[in-house]
Amino acid sequence: MDAEILSVGTELLLGTTANTDAQDISRALAELGINVFWHTVVGDNPARLTECVIRARNRADLIITTGGLGPTCDDITKQVLARTFERELVFHEDAAEGIKAIFEQRGMPFTENNLRQAWLPEGCTVLHNDCGTAPGCLFSDDQVTVIMLPGPPRECRAMLEKSVVPYLRRRSRFTIRSHMIRMFGIGESGMETKLRDLMNGSNPTVAPYAKTGECLVRVTARGTDEAGCEALMAPTMREILQRMGDVVYGVDVDSLEQRVLQLLTEKGLTLATAESCTGGLVSQRVTAIPGASAAFKGGVNVYTEEAKTRLLDIDPEFIAANGVVSMGVAGKMARRVRKVLKADLGVGITGWAGPDGDDVGLVFVGIAAKGECYVRRLQLAGMDRERIRTVAAHNAFDMLRRYLTGLDV
Ligand code: ATP
Ligand code: MG
Repeated sequence: MDAEILSVGTELLLGTTANTDAQDISRALAELGINVFWHTVVGDNPARLTECVIRARNRADLIITTGGLGPTCDDITKQVLARTFERELVFHEDAAEGIKAIFEQRGMPFTENNLRQAWLPEGCTVLHNDCGTAPGCLFSDDQVTVIMLPGPPRECRAMLEKSVVPYLRRRSRFTIRSHMIRMFGIGESGMETKLRDLMNGSNPTVAPYAKTGECLVRVTARGTDEAGCEALMAPTMREILQRMGDVVYGVDVDSLEQRVLQLLTEKGLTLATAESCTGGLVSQRVTAIPGASAAFKGGVNVYTEEAKTRLLDIDPEFIAANGVVSMGVAGKMARRVRKVLKADLGVGITGWAGPDGDDVGLVFVGIAAKGECYVRRLQLAGMDRERIRTVAAHNAFDMLRRYLTGLDV
């Protein structure tokens, strides 16, 4: 099935709104194994929209539109699509009741023009809008399936997930399965060099993604059932895991911190953090995961030297002798916070996040366990403040992950 996404809205052409709906839809269709060959954007103009619809009908099997379903007179998508596909717009009583109910629920005054949204192509399936008033709809003829979604991204996404993806999945003869392999400690180009030859296949496909400081590879297979997909992927998965070795921190996990929390919980160990340049980012990321309380004791945000001295009892003379951004201070922060909070593992991070200063990007990340302490020296010059902080936190999690799985830290 070849798809075209047709986004309607003058604001998209003027550059005031980014076409995130098309991005969301493309992503969802890619997961379903549906080829998206065209993104078209057109303003709220009936003649030009008609032209686009005719072209899409001639080349695509699936047309998904976004925007222009609302109650105002510049919302023309349904009218144009209905006319082009020779369907009357008919009044859908259920949809009208649904729209009225939303106004009542929210205590908003109802105006008659809202009922325009209940006029939908005859014979269509109405897609309920959980987040707004404009219903979506879908219909098929012999050649083409048309799906119309509302413009506001929240509404579009919700309808996509709740109605469109299940519908397309039901219609598909195929099942799509994929695995995400996540890595830390290798650059995108390094990873690509190692996996290049595996990226030419068509079933399974191997696709790289880069996130700040991390590398991801998604392996996707299309088969008649789940077991068939898994069988198709197995040799490739084995090969990738073997080639990449211990930079792989997880398969189908959400993040480094999730993997760390998983390991801590499995082993019944606890964690405490002392952060300076990351300002609590490590503790924030752990506590964002439900169930963090099983392993995370707490953290201190010791930004100034005074805070490091008062809260962690680090001798000012020690700080003066080593420098506040130093291997010694990072290690001591990790050891002290571990003691103070009676945790099994401690993290200490100190560094210069910039943008001003001579040593911007110099960061020390320490982890401490009973009788052990490891410190990594990071040189992140050239990165902006946000990225330095993110990568510093990544390193803390990576060190914990490596320690907890018995690898060299
Ligand atoms: P409404 O019921 O709100 O009128 P609608 O389906 O008529 O919804 P539009 O009026 O075209 O949609 O757009 C509503 C809002 O959604 C606008 O503020 C616009 O910025 C945003 N929007 C529209 N299309 C897109 C898109 N493709 N990507 C991201 N945002 C969009
Ligand atoms: Mg619009």
